[in-house]
Amino acid sequence: MVLSLGMKVNWADNVGYECTIPTGVPGQNTCYCVSETFDNICAGVCSLTPCTALEYVNGDNLEICQYGYWPPGPLCPSPQTAQSGTYGITLYPRQNNNTAGPLGCYLTLGPQGYFVNGVPIFNWHDGKTYNNSNVWHNSAYYFEFYDFDLCSGHAESTGIYHHHIYPNCLGEQLGDTGTEHSPVYGFAIDGFPIYGPWHAENQLSESCYIERNYYGTPDVLGGWGCGASGNRTCVLDNIMRPTTVTFLPSNEYGPTVHETVYSQSGTAILAKSGTYYEDYYYNETCDVLRPTHPYLLDRNNGHDHDDLGYHYHTTVDANGTAVFPYLIGPQFYGVLPLNYENNCCSSISAAAR
Ligand SMILES: [Zn+2]
Ligand SMILES: [Zn+2]
Repeated sequence: MVLSLGMKVNWADNVGYECTIPTGVPGQNTCYCVSETFDNICAGVCSLTPCTALEYVNGDNLEICQYGYWPPGPLCPSPQTAQSGTYGITLYPRQNNNTAGPLGCYLTLGPQGYFVNGVPIFNWHDGKTYNNSNVWHNSAYYFEFYDFDLCSGHAESTGIYHHHIYPNCLGEQLGDTGTEHSPVYGFAIDGFPIYGPWHAENQLSESCYIERNYYGTPDVLGGWGCGASGNRTCVLDNIMRPTTVTFLPSNEYGPTVHETVYSQSGTAILAKSGTYYEDYYYNETCDVLRPTHPYLLDRNNGHDHDDLGYHYHTTVDANGTAVFPYLIGPQFYGVLPLNYENNCCSSISAAAR
């Protein structure tokens, strides 16, 4: 099989994983398996030597090594053995009744829950904003995509391995193939479970967040654009319930949707709509449709049906591509446990710090 930039590799495919990260790339030089191995394919591989596999990759070896499924960073998981930890999850999750803003506490950086294999759940954000303006918040899915390994995970600056999006290898381990409602993949720190992407046989649960149309007018019919072709010159007053836009001073403009921006590891990214948190808004029509279309998720990326009680879903599209907000919504549905109470952030800017 021939690898190409950004390609998804099936778990059991023999991709041949010997490669060397070119010098100067902020990667590591060790092989490391963060979870189990299947068919000799490692998860969490930072790099491997020597570079023999490159020859059958269309001769385009540097690109594969630098931007393929062997993440250049930020770091290798550390320590380079299994990571362990003890986590407390509340036995009595309960809905947040507007104690910290209209829809509860915003997710912050760092662990926001844990998968059943112990890997921390991170939110949609990579902690950075466009031009450090604190206006346009990077989606980790777009900005860290080429840093993710075969299992859609990577390690942050202190070496903690984590997922921001659908954990494809865990899904495989759990045998979640879309024949019924997915099993539990993990728990958010508010205690509510996170299920896999499936609502029922051949029916995915669906995020109700929509990408803004930056070619449109600044209203719902125009897809909440800014009235000029592809320009990010305005933000929504409230992405959960937009009623108007605010035009920005020019030093706070985002990139146009045609522009190229760069990830922390130097990968070029087209800044299309969806690349930033501010590119999304919640489609309130879902609230009307949900009684007859129960697979439509709410603002927290969850719902309550059958005898499951309230739960979140990880969201992907029919091609398996991760869909915002990926795991848990921008805000938690539930009350945070006591040790998190002081960190209940009532705004996105507070949460992103
Ligand atoms: Zn990350
Ligand atoms: Zn469900």
